[in-house]
Amino acid sequence: MSASGSVLEVEDLAISYRSRRGTIDAVRGVSFSLDRGRSLGIVGESGSGKSQTCLAIMGLLPGNASVRGAISLLGEPIVGAPRSRLNALRGRQMSLVFQDPMTALTPHMTVGQQLCEMVTHHEGVSRSAARDRALEIMERVRINDPARRFEMYPFELSGGMRQRIVIAAALILQPALLIADEPTTALDVTVQAEVLRIFRAAVEHSGTAMLLVSHDLGVVAGACDDVAVMYAGRVVEYADVTTLFSRPQHPYTRALLACRPQLQTAGGSQRLASIDGQPPGSSAMVAAGCEFRERCRDAFDRCAVEKPALRVHAGAAQHRAACHLDARK
Ligand code: ATP
Ligand code: SF4
Ligand code: MG
Repeated sequence: MSASGSVLEVEDLAISYRSRRGTIDAVRGVSFSLDRGRSLGIVGESGSGKSQTCLAIMGLLPGNASVRGAISLLGEPIVGAPRSRLNALRGRQMSLVFQDPMTALTPHMTVGQQLCEMVTHHEGVSRSAARDRALEIMERVRINDPARRFEMYPFELSGGMRQRIVIAAALILQPALLIADEPTTALDVTVQAEVLRIFRAAVEHSGTAMLLVSHDLGVVAGACDDVAVMYAGRVVEYADVTTLFSRPQHPYTRALLACRPQLQTAGGSQRLASIDGQPPGSSAMVAAGCEFRERCRDAFDRCAVEKPALRVHAGAAQHRAACHLDARK
């Protein structure tokens, strides 16, 4: 880890794809950093570039993606790193939890074999030491009767239990960075709360840095220290959770928050609202001006001609928004 405690640095990350219809800009200049023991939530509509950002950090983008900018994990560059080095870092220093646990588990291996293999592969310890570690992490993610479940295959477990196994696999090597992309979306509310507690414990007690993507503002508010709001491939607002929820600056964030009460479900979840209009398609990004302007109630002349940069707002150094409104006052 670098002396500053920084685990992850993302600098001006841009991801694009060539298609017959032109270039698709999935991510367009995203920057943030994440320190040890901190958690950052990423929220934004479908297609805003959240998963692409996560995949780039893990070095898992498809071969036809063109990536610019820099990503460093514990000071080591990720963009352009050899596949062998990325394989060594994954699991050991960074791990990823997806929405669907089945894609992360091998169907023909028992839960115990899968957990043990990670430890023996990365750390070269004995089988019995690996088994002890597996049982210990299974207990930490609150799996009852771990010795019995150790012998089970993924299909023998419930969805919630499978996701706990995936989380156990993600945490077993105590990685510096945990990335969770919609990890609780498929779970019922009780299991969801439990999973978020496990994540928080990893952040608070083990110093793991966590990047948590969610459509659910309630999940981010409960589990994260800071929030980045993404819109059309960019971060349009960044602040600590309390500031973002109490003093949102960007009209997009305000619209998301304004819709919240109507969207509360029986379980208290606060899914992202549907705001009138559509985001600009990633292949037809607005060349000049603010991408949100077609949907923005506050848009004025300057918004059509100049792209707003992400800059400090309201005098708080850590609170940034990409909007011209402040400058108009
Ligand atoms: P969701 O909330 O639905 O998961 P997201 O914010 O995670 O959305 P991404 O999956 O990051 O969105 O996608 C961002 C953009 O990148 C989308 O417009 C998508 O069409 C584009 N994209 C992703 N993968 C590819 C690909 N392989 N080829 C071309 N475009 C892609
Ligand atoms: Fe709205 Fe203009 Fe701000 Fe964009 S820059 S969010 S269009 S006020
Ligand atoms: Mg996604």
